[in-house]
Amino acid sequence: MAQPLVALVKRFDPDGRIEALAPPHVAAVFAAMAEIDDVIEAPNVHGRLQLADRWRLSRRLRERRYDRCYVLPNSLKSAIAPFLALIPQRIGHRGEARYLLINRRHDGEAAKGRPMVEFYAQLAFEAGTPIPASIPNPALARDAGRERAARLRIGLAATEPLIVLCPGAEFGPAKRWPARHFAALASLLTEEWPEATIALIGSARERSLATEIAALSGQELRNLCGETSLSEAIALIATANGVVSNDSGLMHVAAAFARPQVAVFGSSDPRHTPPRSPRASVEWLHLECSPCFERDCPLGHLNCLNRIAPPAVFESLRRAMRFETATRPPR
Ligand code: SF4
Repeated sequence: MAQPLVALVKRFDPDGRIEALAPPHVAAVFAAMAEIDDVIEAPNVHGRLQLADRWRLSRRLRERRYDRCYVLPNSLKSAIAPFLALIPQRIGHRGEARYLLINRRHDGEAAKGRPMVEFYAQLAFEAGTPIPASIPNPALARDAGRERAARLRIGLAATEPLIVLCPGAEFGPAKRWPARHFAALASLLTEEWPEATIALIGSARERSLATEIAALSGQELRNLCGETSLSEAIALIATANGVVSNDSGLMHVAAAFARPQVAVFGSSDPRHTPPRSPRASVEWLHLECSPCFERDCPLGHLNCLNRIAPPAVFESLRRAMRFETATRPPR
């Protein structure tokens, strides 16, 4: 969701070099941004306060003599290293009492009620100015070599059809479409596209969930959860013919490659964190209780997700895939 900010920073300063400071678990996403020249991995940037570590990090940053720094998280601790690194312009939202640490502050009011992408993108503009209507959609760069290698590793040729299911959502169960629904969807997909490989992609923590989905479906699904690096997962999603996910990081990855996709929303709000892509469709029931933004359903029934029927998701994906076939020139 930060990529449009990076694209705008590049647009306003085309000769500027942009580096990202990121925790290792998301470094691959920044590495896939065409505008980023280098990614510095720092394990503690979002973690505990660890002042000694932040001091060491700031010394590394100081050597690089940055002119400007965009601090995306709202926390106090995330603003400490850029301050100690003496970066002249430190731009961010007001956040947690960071008056001294951030010296070009945005109050976030202009982005209130608007998608999260715009909340970050507003940092590219002068504080207090209205956010333009035309914020670009997130876009990641294709990498043919990496895509070929990732497909090869799972035994897929470049042209073989691939449908990706991402059943995880780090936030909690109230954002995860039930396993039985993913399984029913997988059966519908197998019936419709018997020639396609259906792969379940996610982290090692989602492996047992994916195993359950494969068992419930009775189909030959490829359970790749925990078997790919994030960089490989990104490369596979970039080449997928269709993607179905919850509201998760991989949903935004699929959108950033404009893959035909369906995003299933439960306790969260697609007006806040939508997949910003012309080929994405959203399944959201907008019940009276939603969005509640809870990790677990406080009402105990999880109707917001249980009532999203697999055939509805299947039809949405079919439409998105047909649309792509009709509008994209063959490659
Ligand atoms: S309260 Fe409503 S929106 Fe929240 S998790 Fe439960 S069913 Fe979903």
